[in-house]
Amino acid sequence: MGSGQVTDWQGKHVTVAGLGVSGVPAAKALHGLGAKVTVVNDGDDARAREQAAELEALGVTVRLGDGDTLPDSTELIVTAPGWKPDKPLFAAADAAGVPVWGDVELAWRLRKPGAADWLAVTGTNGKTTTVQMLASILEAAGLRTAAVGNIGVSLLDAVLGDEEYDVLAVELSSYQLHWAPSLRAHSAAVLNLAPDHLDWHGSMEAYAKDKGRIYEGNRVACVYNTADKATEDLVREADVEEGCRAIGFTLGTPGPSQLGVVEGLLVDRAFVENRQKNAQELAEVADVKPAAPHNVANALAAAALARAYGVPANAVRDGLRNFTPDAHRIAHVADVDGVAYVDDSKATNTHATQASLAAYDSVVWIAGGLAKGATFDELVAGAAGRLRGAVLIGRDRALIREALARHAPEVPVVDLERTDTGAMLQAVQEARRLARPGDTVLLAPACASMDMFANYNKRGDAFAQAVRELGA
Ligand code: ADP
Repeated sequence: MGSGQVTDWQGKHVTVAGLGVSGVPAAKALHGLGAKVTVVNDGDDARAREQAAELEALGVTVRLGDGDTLPDSTELIVTAPGWKPDKPLFAAADAAGVPVWGDVELAWRLRKPGAADWLAVTGTNGKTTTVQMLASILEAAGLRTAAVGNIGVSLLDAVLGDEEYDVLAVELSSYQLHWAPSLRAHSAAVLNLAPDHLDWHGSMEAYAKDKGRIYEGNRVACVYNTADKATEDLVREADVEEGCRAIGFTLGTPGPSQLGVVEGLLVDRAFVENRQKNAQELAEVADVKPAAPHNVANALAAAALARAYGVPANAVRDGLRNFTPDAHRIAHVADVDGVAYVDDSKATNTHATQASLAAYDSVVWIAGGLAKGATFDELVAGAAGRLRGAVLIGRDRALIREALARHAPEVPVVDLERTDTGAMLQAVQEARRLARPGDTVLLAPACASMDMFANYNKRGDAFAQAVRELGA
């Protein structure tokens, strides 16, 4: 399996590593193309058996409870993106000279001739939002498009389905990029780069390197964040097509080949005639919802990709106006007694929380959960001046409490030991006690939720429910 399109799958022995969101559709698609598919999966639970039965009925072989033995005669492995590169299965593949593709690589290779271009987005935070904004802008320009990736349409469906697209707005995680060596986007953006998932990648260098793959082979633009030098470094290191440009986005006044903000307007100084002198107004900052600084940055990145694709300025404005953010991302829940309650449950790491806290002047901060190896000193030191108080929940809350004691000793802290379903209600009641009119009570936990909740959605729902009970 070289680097080109594989046109004949008939009888090819393909091993799909991992059932689940990407594995089941991949196995079905490959089987449909005539490949001899074997799925290997570590787990052997009820859900896995159910999925296995469905695939076996089609004629796919499934091995449950052993994800590490390479099936004989495997010619290609298609892996779930989350499988760690140091798994023994991949060492076995390496020894046998068997290539490994992720779900994105598979989708990329299965594109039909003349298929839609990809405008790709990665970053530690803001991917989903930016891709959705981008799709909304492309739609406003009358293009047939979809936001593809972790949410909405799956990549394989977008590539293999009957729906025809002009261009796709594609969200890519660092895991997916790791397993997608031949992907070549029309243009791509790295929004920001902060330590995350380091246990998977092994080091910050490896994580950055995987993110940087998104720029490889770009044809028109590599979009980077001028406030995050690491993203610019990745552009410099990338091997791109002749003529591909580096385009920066900034919350300040843009220089030539940048998009930025001037007097409440989003402005393009990259895709205009004579960019030394000219600039094009795209939209008002107020068109961005919510107009928190990090989200304006997301809008600028989306605008840069759309402009790289040739979209007119008014479509950027219309697309941003039409866009509705997903739940649990700085969602305003209610005002109670002059205090705003905001749900940013999706802020599951310190980088996201830092952005979130920076959007408000006086905050009662609800935080805590699973820290995933993070440290909180920088976050707390940077936000200390904005904190009216803090309410800490979840398993690793002591880490945040200690950072508060070190960097913001005057800020009142309520430490909640309980982890039952009533804990969030109590957290919100404590926050209300600490808040003054004009403050914002902000759920931006900087931690994963799984110690107390099924996922961040449930955590945000519990917060919103608790706020409604306050108001009742
Ligand atoms: P992702 O898909 O990368 O997880 P989301 O758009 O779902 O990104 O946002 C995840 C979290 O990151 C949200 O809590 C949001 O407040 C925060 N966030 C969004 N954009 C940015 C950004 N540009 N910089 C920092 N944090 C951000």
